[in-house]
Amino acid sequence: MAGHIAFVGLGSNLADPCRQVSRALRALDELPHTKVLASSSLYRSAPVGFLQQPDFINAVAKLETALTPRGLLDALLGLERARGRTREFRNAPRTLDLDILLYDDLRYSEHGLTLPHPQMHLRAFVLRPLLEIAPDGAIPGVGSAEAALQGCGQQQLEVVSNE
Ligand code: AMP
Repeated sequence: MAGHIAFVGLGSNLADPCRQVSRALRALDELPHTKVLASSSLYRSAPVGFLQQPDFINAVAKLETALTPRGLLDALLGLERARGRTREFRNAPRTLDLDILLYDDLRYSEHGLTLPHPQMHLRAFVLRPLLEIAPDGAIPGVGSAEAALQGCGQQQLEVVSNE
């Protein structure tokens, strides 16, 4: 495998979110030319933006993949669709949200794909699970994930599972 390293953020707050995220982790491992090298615990986080919705379950996975960034994004969007994801409005509840956070040390922005993910450095629910599996994690153009987490203030987050 032409091993690129990518980190993917997973989130769900509908239809048994822990199960959605656990299933999605297995589905990532079954993508073509891709294997999951590590995955974080599951974390519970309060919603941001639109607050009248259930808490989210989040996790981060480290992948080795031969897919291109665009190929990986298409695969993630396919998994979201397979879980019945609809896009009703920004920050709406969702059965499954999959984002490419990092792809090697690539900085790229074109046609619906921005790398690193443009909001990742602002979100404790991304940075804490990322740091669990990549303690020295760095965000190209931003700096260390640890410093970014310290800038996130008091976002509520708790571990719900070590599976
Ligand atoms: P959302 O589901 O609200 O996270 O938005 C997903 C959309 O964001 C996708 O249709 C992508 O075209 C776009 N997008 C831009 N950059 C990324 C990224 N790094 N990972 C996932 N989606 C991205």
